[in-house]
Amino acid sequence: MAIAFESLYSDCAGRCGKLTVGKKTIKTPALLPVINPHLQLVTPKEMQQMGVEALITNAYIFSQSNQFRARALEEGLHKVLDFDGVIMTDSGSFQLSVYGQVAITNTETLSFQRDIGSDIWVPLDIPTSPAADRETTERELAVTLQRLTEAKEVFGSDAPIAGPVQGGIFEDLREFSGLKVTELGFSFCAIGAVVPLMESYRYRDLVKVVMAAKRTISPSACVHLFGAGHPSMFALATAMGCDLFDSAAYALYAKDGRYLTAHGSYRIEELADLPCACSVCRSNTAEELRSAPDRERLLALHNLYVTLAEISRIRQAIVDGTLWELVDERCRGHPQLLSGYRALLGYAPVLAEHDRVSKRRFFYRGDESCRRTEVLRYQQQLARLRLGKSVLVVIDGKSTEGYDDTLFFRPPFGPYPAELRETFPIGPCELPEWDDAMVRQGCRGIRALADSHPGSRIVLSCSPVWAGFIRQELGDMETADDAV
Ligand SMILES: [Zn+2]
Repeated sequence: MAIAFESLYSDCAGRCGKLTVGKKTIKTPALLPVINPHLQLVTPKEMQQMGVEALITNAYIFSQSNQFRARALEEGLHKVLDFDGVIMTDSGSFQLSVYGQVAITNTETLSFQRDIGSDIWVPLDIPTSPAADRETTERELAVTLQRLTEAKEVFGSDAPIAGPVQGGIFEDLREFSGLKVTELGFSFCAIGAVVPLMESYRYRDLVKVVMAAKRTISPSACVHLFGAGHPSMFALATAMGCDLFDSAAYALYAKDGRYLTAHGSYRIEELADLPCACSVCRSNTAEELRSAPDRERLLALHNLYVTLAEISRIRQAIVDGTLWELVDERCRGHPQLLSGYRALLGYAPVLAEHDRVSKRRFFYRGDESCRRTEVLRYQQQLARLRLGKSVLVVIDGKSTEGYDDTLFFRPPFGPYPAELRETFPIGPCELPEWDDAMVRQGCRGIRALADSHPGSRIVLSCSPVWAGFIRQELGDMETADDAV
């Protein structure tokens, strides 16, 4: 019954992998649509036909429902929902966060989830709001950890139980929570209570708490980001190492007349046309969709299609090694997402440790690209170059004889020897015309080279076009006679 996760491809901290639960295996990253048994705009069967391999439903709703409780216990959840993929169940923690209390205990909800045949069970953790003060957050975290300990003791270490990671807005508490969940042996971790951050567009804070939790969660654990539903933030969350998302957004937005895209959402009234390739949008005009009697269902279908397509796009980007570019593109859809992206770039030294060596390409997309992991890694590795006593770095000037070694220059990376001309990142790096940001970053590469080779005399060769700028950046370094 145990839960196992295997990463097959990685890019930044993002993974493409396999999550195995009992005898079932699903591909990750994955979206688990939220199913409310009382209200199904799209049925689980239809979702399965759309490629959904796993979904999430609320065990608490089943346990409190006259209509579904007995049936779920007798026939099992998969039969009731008519879905034979992976079903994860939430415990009622969400209700706890909204209503302040639930009529069920930790062991009761876990027993119930087991008895209805759920594939992944969630204990009754306490989702502490980001608005909570430190004392409250610490107190609630202690209760959550006590319940996770109880879950392992009562149901055994192999039970398919998710380990929620709480800690509110406090990074050290998220880190501590991740550590405890890992020590308790959870191979499936769910980062919780981040919905209020996403609802108020606090992506910078989201990056901080997720990165704090990721510091201590085992790299071999599957990480679920609870309540992450808008496709525009999936790439960012994946780059941090989140593998699973669950979303009620496709249905909630549909009920509210909102049309999701990977860049943001529209009110259906605003749409003059339907910018999407799904069957709903190709067989309806915007006007037809607005006035359709089953508008909510059609919108929910569309919303689910675009959400699933975004997950597929992310998987492809990870295989290609172009996840940073997708994150860059998506995060320009909203200034607060851009703020989150910039915050994530601040973690480049940590992310670079996980980043892979070779990728399909590097597309320069402006200042932010200078701070990417590939640039950082490249500049760190310059220390390994074996160089003679005199080294000419040809920035954009002439190459002259008389030096032990000649290096060329590729911003934003910096100096490179001719033999690296074709390899990643120098070869498959596509740049527009040089700009100040990329050349400045490239100069940092030259500086790193000089610092790591104190026995080599580094001489720069640049044309008049960049000579002034280079002098500002590297004014203390020697330039070739004919440079300026
Ligand atoms: Zn569509």
